Amino acid sequence: MKAELIAPCGMNCGFCSAYLAYTHGLEKRKGTSHCTGCRARNKECSFIKKRCPSGLSKNLIQFCYECDKFPCENLVKISSRYEKNYNYNFIEALNFIRDKGMAAFLKREKKRWKCPDCGGVLCVHNGKCYRCQDVKSWRG
Ligand SMILES: [Zn+2]
Repeated sequence: MKAELIAPCGMNCGFCSAYLAYTHGLEKRKGTSHCTGCRARNKECSFIKKRCPSGLSKNLIQFCYECDKFPCENLVKISSRYEKNYNYNFIEALNFIRDKGMAAFLKREKKRWKCPDCGGVLCVHNGKCYRCQDVKSWRG
C-alpha cells in the first residue's frame, strides 16, 4: 500500500484488478486491463477526472476532498456503486485521509485487504490474492 497509489477520487489502485494484473505480470488479453495506477499514468480517470469541471481536471488539487464541491455527484455515484459491489467507499476513504492522514489510512488499508494466507493484497474487484492463489484458473 503506497500513497502514490491512492487516486484523487479515493480509489486505492493497489488493490485494483488492473494494477494487480500489471504487477504480477499477468498477460494482457482482450478484456483484461493492465494499469500502473491512476496517478502514475496521470490517467484521465474514467470515473471522475474527465467529468470533473472543478479543481481535479485542472490539477489544482491532489484529492477530491480538497474541492469545495466535495462530494460531487460523480463521486457519490461511483462511491455508491463501489460500496454496493465491492464494499469500498471512496468518500469514507477520502474523509479518513483528510481527518487522520495518509499514513493512518495506509495502515488501516494494509490490514483490511491483507491475504490471510500469505500477507499479500486481496483484490477489491474479485477478492483474490494475486500472490498465492492460482491465477491461471480465473484470469480468463
Ligand atoms: Zn495470498
